[in-house]
Amino acid sequence: MNILCVIAHPDDETILCGGTLALLASRGAAVHVACLTRGEGGELGEPPLADREHLGEVREQEMVCAVGKLGGKSLTFLGYVDPVIGPDNQLFAPEHNPTMLAGQIVNAIRQFEIDAVLTHGSNGEYGHPAHVLVHQTTLAAVTALRQEYTTQPPNHPATQPPSHRTIQPPNHCCFTPSAPTSPNTPTPASPTKMTAPIS
Ligand SMILES: [Zn+2]
Repeated sequence: MNILCVIAHPDDETILCGGTLALLASRGAAVHVACLTRGEGGELGEPPLADREHLGEVREQEMVCAVGKLGGKSLTFLGYVDPVIGPDNQLFAPEHNPTMLAGQIVNAIRQFEIDAVLTHGSNGEYGHPAHVLVHQTTLAAVTALRQEYTTQPPNHPATQPPSHRTIQPPNHCCFTPSAPTSPNTPTPASPTKMTAPIS
C-alpha cells in the first residue's frame, strides 16, 4: 500500500500522525510525505534554535531526519513560504494559488500511485489557517481525482507550481543546526547533534 501524508509544516507529520505513519511503514507500506512549507515563520524557540533567516533550513533538515526515522520513502517540499506569526500569536496560511496547489497534490498522488491519503483535520486541529488550507485543498484534490476516474479519462491540466523538491530520507541522518548569529542571542555551549538511525 502506498500512503501520502500531506501537511503544512515540518513536525506536523510527527505530532499529528507519526505513530500511524511508523506503524504503516513497519508493516510494509510505502509512506510518502508532502509538506506545504519549510516552517520559516514558526517560533524560533527559547533559546533560539536558529535566526529567522535560517529557521526554514534547520526545520527542513529536522524533517528529513524525522521522516527517515518514521520509515518514510520520500519527502516533498511543495515550495510555499510560511508567513511569520503575527502580533498576539496570529497565524496565517501561505500565499498560494488554490488550483495550482491542488494540482501539486494530484500530481503527488499520481507519481507515487497513492492508495490512501492522510492530512489535517477539517478544524486545522487548533484552527491554524495553514492546516485548514491543506485539509481543504487535499480534499479537493482527492475529490477531483475520484470524479475524473469515475466520469472520464484522467486529464488534469498541467500546473506551474513553485519550485518543489523531493528528498529520499537517508537511513541514518545527522545534522548540526546553524548557531544563532544575533549578538543578543545566547549561544549554546556546544552544537546540538541530532541522530536519527532507522532500526
Ligand atoms: Zn503545523
